[in-house]
Amino acid sequence: MPGYEKERFVSIGESERNELSCGICHEILKEPVVANCCLQTFCRECITQWLTNDSSCPYDRKPMTSNDMNPAPSRADE
Ligand SMILES: [Zn+2]
Ligand SMILES: [Zn+2]
Repeated sequence: MPGYEKERFVSIGESERNELSCGICHEILKEPVVANCCLQTFCRECITQWLTNDSSCPYDRKPMTSNDMNPAPSRADE
């Protein structure tokens, strides 16, 4: 059912959608991590993969290593 995923997003606001999607793969975040430089969130897997090829942030191009990011706070705690 290709239409199913899209319909699910309709009920989520645009900003919410951005918050929940990865800046690299644009999919819903898996194991989200936050870049210290710009506070953008990425999947841990995506950013780890990115940093093997590039030592700068995919969002703002600031120098970045795997030490420059933190696990995103869990929303489930709220
Ligand atoms: Zn991703
Ligand atoms: Zn950044």
